[in-house]
Amino acid sequence: TVDVRFSGKTRVFTVANQKGGVGKTTTTVNLAAALASLGARVLVIDLDPQGNASTALGVPHDADTPSIYDVLIDDFPLADIIQKSPESDNLLCAPSTIHLAGAEIELVSQVAREHRLRTAVDDFLATTPEHLDFVLIDCPPSLGLLTINAFAAGQELLIPIQCEYYALEGLSQLLGTVRMIQKHLNPRLHLSTIMLTMYDGRTRLAQQVADEVRAHFPNEVLKTVIPRSVRVSEAPSFGQTVIAYDGQSAGAVAYREAAVEVLRRDSNTQHEGDA
Ligand code: ADP
Ligand code: MG
Repeated sequence: TVDVRFSGKTRVFTVANQKGGVGKTTTTVNLAAALASLGARVLVIDLDPQGNASTALGVPHDADTPSIYDVLIDDFPLADIIQKSPESDNLLCAPSTIHLAGAEIELVSQVAREHRLRTAVDDFLATTPEHLDFVLIDCPPSLGLLTINAFAAGQELLIPIQCEYYALEGLSQLLGTVRMIQKHLNPRLHLSTIMLTMYDGRTRLAQQVADEVRAHFPNEVLKTVIPRSVRVSEAPSFGQTVIAYDGQSAGAVAYREAAVEVLRRDSNTQHEGDA
């Protein structure tokens, strides 16, 4: 068992990688559920028009649902759209709907278009009576205005990397964008965490990719690697994270271990019984 006390501040993670299908959403919802299972209060912000994070958290997100679109475009307070995941009282979701697909273009003509999410998150954190330990923002697979909003709102960047060929391709473009964000929009954003995912230990390629990423980013890559697992990929079709769907599966165990690592990496988090 793990005994962790939380630091009292809110850690805001932007989960980004402009490649599609690398495990952003899977990482976001399962890490969030794992953190919640350890006692953290966690908000997932679904910033992908596909709404896969909302689905996986069991949160309704049909076209009529008040959503992150209304926050970004119509100045709704975040508090008005947040729903509780049926999985845990500690697990909240700001859902996305199909309307968000138009937001990328609608944002262009908005005032402070890059800061809409940051303002909404900061207002929410300043006014909500219930403290949040984590906010995890799930990004769409592009470097457009939605992802820029997520970069502007975040403190820590979490990049999931699929252990396959071309894993590092596109990473320099992503990090170049992040440097621009740091310079012009959000100096507090930093790459804190890289999570290796969909790892298939039977292939030499996966091992090679993992070694290569660790060589480039020795301090950022988590020790825990998320295995490729059918249970992980099945869970969303039941509107669940793998933590709820099959808490004993290898994927669930790995996400809980990753969550413990994320907690330990926070210098302000207190640990009881740490050797
Ligand atoms: P992204 O959000 O980056 O587009 P997803 O999280 O949706 O990527 O993952 C892409 C696909 O890979 C999904 O079908 C998902 O179920 C599957 N997947 C992600 N992680 C794993 C895993 N550890 N094991 C098996 N399948 C996975
Ligand atoms: Mg996704």
